[in-house]
Amino acid sequence: MADLTTKKRIAIFGSTGSIGTQALDVIRANPALFEVEILTAQTNDDLLIKQALEFHPNAVVIGDESRYHKVKDALAKTLTKVFAGEQALEEVADFDSYDMMLAAIVGFAGLKPTMKAVSKRKAVALANKETLVVAGDLVMQKAIENRVPIIPVDSEHSAIFQCLVGESRNRIEKIILTASGGPFLGKKPNYLVNVKRDHALQHPNWAMGAKISIDSATLMNKGLEMIEAKWLFNLHPNQIQVVVHPQSIVHSLVQFEDGSIKAQMGLPDMKLPIQYAMAFPQRIKNDFLRLDFRKYPSLTFEEPDVKTFRNLALATEALHKGGNMPCILNAANEIAVWAFLRNRVGFLDMTAMVEKTMEKIPFIEKPGMQEYFDSDGEARNFAASLINL
Ligand code: NDP
Repeated sequence: MADLTTKKRIAIFGSTGSIGTQALDVIRANPALFEVEILTAQTNDDLLIKQALEFHPNAVVIGDESRYHKVKDALAKTLTKVFAGEQALEEVADFDSYDMMLAAIVGFAGLKPTMKAVSKRKAVALANKETLVVAGDLVMQKAIENRVPIIPVDSEHSAIFQCLVGESRNRIEKIILTASGGPFLGKKPNYLVNVKRDHALQHPNWAMGAKISIDSATLMNKGLEMIEAKWLFNLHPNQIQVVVHPQSIVHSLVQFEDGSIKAQMGLPDMKLPIQYAMAFPQRIKNDFLRLDFRKYPSLTFEEPDVKTFRNLALATEALHKGGNMPCILNAANEIAVWAFLRNRVGFLDMTAMVEKTMEKIPFIEKPGMQEYFDSDGEARNFAASLINL
């Protein structure tokens, strides 16, 4: 039974996105367990206003400052405080009044507020994988120092986390991250060269935000997840394996030293890992669709095609190299995906941009936070200079 005595006060950073809106669905269905303390959006003022009027948070942040007055006016008759701008994200992350941050901003922009929450000793439900890709060493070190739980929301990492419950005395031999393969599974470069934005956005199993949908189509998402897993579960890169599992039923697996493998399974529905992270250590009853094995007579697993989907090879290289290389990879990839979504570069150009940026930006073996920010900026500028206008 869930603890009904105190409500957990949730701060949703990125409340208007795919993860943010599904988290609000979970909260709406469990009003006795959760309440909303903070909501943030970047540009989607209409949805932020609607969410604030429904959930009555203490504070909202609209990242785009030009939209501040619209949000402020719309919430004038409420008790919700309205803030605007990038800096405000850190300011509200510094509030005492919430219990858990759901880090659901997309990209590098999620790093600073998440780091602030960890510094404030707030539990973090982490969807924003880029935070750990960029500065996983510093974030996890601070979390350990402050005894802050970082509970993964990403379905693969949630699966591993769930498999590890009760196994704290047992060593992991390896983890196996499953990948759906995305919309272009089995395709070759001569096909991919002509792929356009709208096609790449159509994921076969998951409905997600634009950036992660493109990352899934290029397999960069799985590469980012390997790096995320290294930090979350304190693994050596050689302990992380990727297999393609097109049905997205087995969300990931852990193999222990005795060879035994545990898997977590379910239908592909992000609400489950979101709810699990928010309610941990409890499991909450819900009415999500249940998996019926009779409808899945064959679950298949295969080797990823890293020759075609070279982003996965590049991310594996960054994972092994460490230092600021994952940060450089991530920054170049964010620019490449941004450009692809605007039809400014082709599908395969994204990989070329990431590779060239990794070759160009100086490697730093043990960066501090400022060096991560500098590497991010340099990598973005260089990657942007590669866009053929
Ligand atoms: P979306 O693009 O759907 O939503 C992103 C959210 O972040 C929105 O609220 C958006 O505001 C806000 N945002 C965008 N840019 C900025 C910025 N520069 N500063 C502050 N806020 C910003 O993304 P998803 O929900 O799909 O993904 C969020 C994170 O979760 C990503 O890191 C992704 O990799 C991870 N994740 C997502 C999964 C999914 O199923 N969607 C699964 C596993 C992980 P606005 O709406 O106003 O633009």
